[in-house]
Amino acid sequence: MKEASAHLEHGTEGEKARILVVDDEPGIRDGCRKILASEGYAVEVAADGLDGCAMATRKQDPFDLALVDLKMPGMDGIQVLSKIREHDPEIITIVITAYATLETAIQATRQGAYGYVPKPFTPDELLLLIRKGLEKRRLSLRTKRLQEERERDLLEICRERNRCRAIINHMTDALIVVNRHQQFALANPAAMAMFRKQEMPAVGTPLGDCLENPRLLELVRGVLSDTDEFREVTGKEITLRDNRAAMANIAPFLDDTGSALGAVIVLGDITELKQLEKAKAAFISMVSHELKSPLAAIENFAELVLKGTFKGDKAREALGRMRSRAEGARKMIDDLLNFSALEAGAIARNKERMLLKDAIEDAVATQRDLAKERGITIDTGQVDCEAAMSADRDDMVKLFTNLISNAVKYNKEGGRVTVSCTDCDGSVEIVVNDTGVGIPRRHLDNVFDEFYRIRNEGTKRIGGTGLGLAIVKKIVDAYYGEISVESEPGKGTTFTVLFRGGER
Ligand code: ADP
Repeated sequence: MKEASAHLEHGTEGEKARILVVDDEPGIRDGCRKILASEGYAVEVAADGLDGCAMATRKQDPFDLALVDLKMPGMDGIQVLSKIREHDPEIITIVITAYATLETAIQATRQGAYGYVPKPFTPDELLLLIRKGLEKRRLSLRTKRLQEERERDLLEICRERNRCRAIINHMTDALIVVNRHQQFALANPAAMAMFRKQEMPAVGTPLGDCLENPRLLELVRGVLSDTDEFREVTGKEITLRDNRAAMANIAPFLDDTGSALGAVIVLGDITELKQLEKAKAAFISMVSHELKSPLAAIENFAELVLKGTFKGDKAREALGRMRSRAEGARKMIDDLLNFSALEAGAIARNKERMLLKDAIEDAVATQRDLAKERGITIDTGQVDCEAAMSADRDDMVKLFTNLISNAVKYNKEGGRVTVSCTDCDGSVEIVVNDTGVGIPRRHLDNVFDEFYRIRNEGTKRIGGTGLGLAIVKKIVDAYYGEISVESEPGKGTTFTVLFRGGER
């Protein structure tokens, strides 16, 4: 029974309260030990201040309470008390005092001692103070523990919140949260960027004041409107400023009773997707158009030959034109197939050491007729016959054919195309120069883009797919090469390809 009461009074639940008695008088020391031990406390004693301090400041088995005599030889009680409390501010200290030192004892309690027992004292007087002291320790330890737990919980909440914040902040989609009154609650940086906002709107700002987008506001209103069933918005397209577009998903978040507390708006930027769709549509219409006109011409000529309208030389001439229009259409289909194969990486390359002059000769041969027709000279005098690299021959023929055919196509009547190829310490430099219409400066960065065509006075009658240079670029990239273009409108254009030795 006594043990149990000692347990209950003790600060660290489940263990005996530990009490240190520091007194130089053996009678008091032993008396206290007996009284306290009989109550079930774990008691240790020290005969002077030094010993008492050493015991009270040891790491193992800390004391819950120290009973210290004020007047001792050597280190006096006041010093002992301050040392003990310095070591453990939570320990309960009680002063044993004689009548002569009563004043000092009162002083000590002002400085933090829990209380004092004036000598002589009865066991009950001592025990009453001890129990009260231990109760205080229990309460203060519990408060401390609760405080630590609370701090730990707060820290965890903080960490959790930071984690959520980091996720939200790193989302590429824009995220906006509003309350049920359509007032702004939260937005991530992607949302700020999407709506070109420098500063986060204040919490509680009406959404209409933060976002000038009537369509989005209408959708949010719809989601939060008081209908029996909350309507979610999924995959609705909205138009943003600067011709940008976003896909909106809006969902309400509900409380336990099912009423909306607010809504979460997620917006994915689909501008590029839309542009791609547009480019695809433009491409399909361009391809249809480009294929339709040669086919219509071929049909016409065939009709005229079949009906006998064109006979003899005229019929032969018509057949020649039919062939050249058919060639144009086939070239276009070749470009498309080449490009899609390169794009899909579906090309099996058969690399071997080859002389580049062979690929140049093949490419020039395909352009000779057209060049002759327009009085254009193709000069390959600057081609180093020894220039060689390890490559797939088809790739190199395609590369030269596209560059040389452009140089002929975009040239002026009677113009010149110069092809040079040099091999310097294993690095190969290829230059294709023409005296043609040139490329305006603002287009230079884009000419290697897929389906990019320049439409101006100089090019409007020239057919093409806008894929030739994109194919060239893909081939150059496949060999870790570099390609650059310089041009002066009205004077001509120079394409330079460099394959560095050792990198290909
Ligand atoms: P295209 O099938 O239209 O010729 P390319 O990808 O080969 O497609 O070229 C893209 C655009 O770059 C062309 O439409 C043309 O306007 C311009 N271009 C390419 N090569 C030359 C050149 N040698 N001289 C002038 N313009 C050129």
